[in-house]
Amino acid sequence: MSLALARKYRPKRFADVAVQSHVATTLRNAIVTDHVAHAYLFCGPRGTGKTTLARVLAMALNCENRREDREPCGVCASCTRIWAGSASLDVVEIDAASNRGVDDARDLRERAMYAPSGDDHHKVYIIDEAHMLTREAWNALLKILEEPPPRVVFVFATTEPQKIAQAAAPVLSRVQRFDLKRIGPADVRDRLTTVLKAEKITAEPDALAMLARAADGSMRDALSLTDQVLSLGAGNITAQRVRDALGLVHEDEYLALLDLIVDRRAGDVFAAVGRLADFGVDFSLLLSGIADILRAQLAIVLGGTVPDLSEHIRAELDKRKSRFVSGDLLRMLTLLTDLEPHFRRSGQQQLLFETLLVRFALLDRTVNLEDVLKGMGAAPATRSSGGGGARREPVSYDNSPARPPRATLLADHPRVAEPRAAVPAKPRAAVPADSAPPAKPRQPIDINRLAEHWDDLVEIIRASGRNVLASALADATPQAVTASGVITIAAGSETLAPAIESGAEHVLAALRTLFDGPQRVAVSVAGQAKRGRLTAENVLADRTAMLRKNAPLLDAAIEALDLRLVD
Ligand SMILES: [Zn+2]
Repeated sequence: MSLALARKYRPKRFADVAVQSHVATTLRNAIVTDHVAHAYLFCGPRGTGKTTLARVLAMALNCENRREDREPCGVCASCTRIWAGSASLDVVEIDAASNRGVDDARDLRERAMYAPSGDDHHKVYIIDEAHMLTREAWNALLKILEEPPPRVVFVFATTEPQKIAQAAAPVLSRVQRFDLKRIGPADVRDRLTTVLKAEKITAEPDALAMLARAADGSMRDALSLTDQVLSLGAGNITAQRVRDALGLVHEDEYLALLDLIVDRRAGDVFAAVGRLADFGVDFSLLLSGIADILRAQLAIVLGGTVPDLSEHIRAELDKRKSRFVSGDLLRMLTLLTDLEPHFRRSGQQQLLFETLLVRFALLDRTVNLEDVLKGMGAAPATRSSGGGGARREPVSYDNSPARPPRATLLADHPRVAEPRAAVPAKPRAAVPADSAPPAKPRQPIDINRLAEHWDDLVEIIRASGRNVLASALADATPQAVTASGVITIAAGSETLAPAIESGAEHVLAALRTLFDGPQRVAVSVAGQAKRGRLTAENVLADRTAMLRKNAPLLDAAIEALDLRLVD
């Protein structure tokens, strides 16, 4: 392939400017009806066809083979020269980014005075990156536009029209403004399909979708990226070739990260990210990749559709639908958006990416309201366990100032006060409450049974809304059970121990719903191996435990409302 695709397939006629047809049609009509303006302003993101449209306009105004529909012929000497952007008597292209001074403006003014080369010709100035022009340059231009010479047309192209509005507001009233559409992935895919068909190259749909995503709204980039893939060798364009050429991460890697998050495997984040780093991935791409997949998962959870998803990913996200709650996905996307501007500039992208995933994995999940209400509603007075771990006065939840929202909810939903027997006999539905033991006969506690039912214990605690305690328990292991019913729990780390200690009474109560015989809960810290793990979870649990020790009322509020300490 001798000619780059982006160049080879750059439109030569208004009709070819497919995505911006609203602008192309208007411009062509202006020529047909002889209503060409003196100045145009084309606004739009990069790669949307601003310069291309300006050149087609210049070609149409100066084509040697004038047709009735005023489409440029694309083959005459004038068309060829303008299309290629090479020197032409009638068309001057100026890159404002490199022509900013007063002299240039003066030069521009002088040059504008020169008439077009022939009576039926137009002099067209195409000024790219127009927002970079200085105030002085704009002032010079304004003078020209106030008394425009005949058959002189200015086309300003910019990605940042608001800067022009700031620097040269009066100019805006003298230009005809067109806002070019952002090119969507579907547009890019359509265009790539057409181009590749003309080149007799087949491409996998997933490969096209990836190219379209990577192009990020720029048709020029899409074609250049396709060139890049083709430069790796002849043949069809496969998803794998696109990944290789563009250094993209396989979609399944994102699914794996998603599973880390939903399974709350915060500890596995570091290895997973480290492995990706070994591949030499671009963390900025990784960040937008994870954003894309969270966004897609959110859309699927909400029952919406995501047009640019491969069938494989769509099916996989569908499988995970019931495991995510839209509120959690929204919070993750918010965290991600907050991080993004800082991320681009950071020299610590891997660290930031890891930390973000750990936060996602440890994010306190939105608690099912009914579960919480069940956990507290039926018999608030029994909340304070009779276990030896109790170390504070029972707090009256009904009079607590923090309580009203929930109290209202209780009043609105009397069914939460239904007897516990109506709840299916799943462990998570059970409520730690001495006075209301489940009817099911319980087995005497021993270390093996405790180990076997550890996850149930975590679930019960989580279902009651004590997420910090549940997370600490999930990271802990049962260490010993004595004949007298003392249960020793080994916390995963020193920082997690206080969370379990302060929640000992709840653990005890939960244990009593599962087993016969628990009398007291003691906490130890697991061996050196786990020490020093400074995760967000540990820090949060630590801070929560400290605060709660110092403020019994806060303790009550945290439990009643599932308050999460905000960092
Ligand atoms: Zn022509």
